[in-house]
Amino acid sequence: MTARLIDGKKIASEIRAEVAVSAARLAERGTKPGLAAVLVGDDPASQVYVRMKKRACEEAGIYAPDMHLPADTTQEALIERIEQLNGDPRIHGILVQLPLPRPLDESEIMLRVRPEKDVDGFHPVNVGRMVSGDPDAFRPATPAGIQELLKRIDVDPQGRHVVVMGRSNIVGRPVAEILSQKQPWANATVTLAHSRTPDLGEVGRLGDILIVAIGRPEFVTADMVRPGAVVIDVGVNRVDDPETEKGYRLVGDVAFEAVRTVASWITPVPGGVGPMTIAMLLRNTIKAAERFPA
Ligand code: NAP
Repeated sequence: MTARLIDGKKIASEIRAEVAVSAARLAERGTKPGLAAVLVGDDPASQVYVRMKKRACEEAGIYAPDMHLPADTTQEALIERIEQLNGDPRIHGILVQLPLPRPLDESEIMLRVRPEKDVDGFHPVNVGRMVSGDPDAFRPATPAGIQELLKRIDVDPQGRHVVVMGRSNIVGRPVAEILSQKQPWANATVTLAHSRTPDLGEVGRLGDILIVAIGRPEFVTADMVRPGAVVIDVGVNRVDDPETEKGYRLVGDVAFEAVRTVASWITPVPGGVGPMTIAMLLRNTIKAAERFPA
């Protein structure tokens, strides 16, 4: 068997086109949606992510002002900036790019973002609403993107066994939560595995759908995957590769070439889950602007 590729890049660009239509409709009614992506300091990866998010916003007709603050910004100054954004009627979504430079306290900063503008879905109010099954809660972008990928390839998790490897608060735990809910495109039986799971392969082979978010390059091998499974690889890892111009290449948490011979569907890395994260963030921004047009 050779698995079919789940083309996250194409699916994400379809969603971004849908977002652009919604943004234009809102603008006609007098609300241009706005997203503030707050970047503190000069972490190169964070700069790239924020630039990508800003560009995607601009392409979709979402206002995305520059929000770059110096690395020595104090906790008080950052909170003050967030309070300004909380009260700014042009801004419907606020995200704070993580990680923040030390000694800034990320959890306190997250609490200061108004839940109605928390399009990343990290505020405890949104986490609680999401867990209690409120369909209007902002759901974190990467897990929501995974569910959307399944929808777009017409694989309904209902009644299937979903195995999630990795229990982080931004990917593994929320995706396990979302897919086990009594909701459309969910209703799965979910197993959440992690670093203390004694035999990851044994658990992995239970999965009709296997979602891997552990941050270990090419860790999941073909023998850990049920034949015919749908494999969603969230991992993004740099591995040295002197053959390439940059000296490295990106790989997922799944040994792609081997696993594609046993799976029925598989996401590539890059070009699978990654592009969906930004698309779902834009979608959440539209949702915020529709709800509170200001
Ligand atoms: P994280 O916070 O580092 O969490 C990793 C999780 O994997 C933890 O729950 C850990 O278990 C588990 N784990 C680590 N090694 C393991 C092993 N050998 N066996 C079983 N479980 C193991 O990671 P994350 O933030 O969720 O990110 C995971 C990966 O996804 C990373 O490569 C990251 O770059 C990528 N990512 C991609 C996107 C995207 O948009 N494509 C978004 C976010 C993250 P314990 O809890 O027991 O420590």
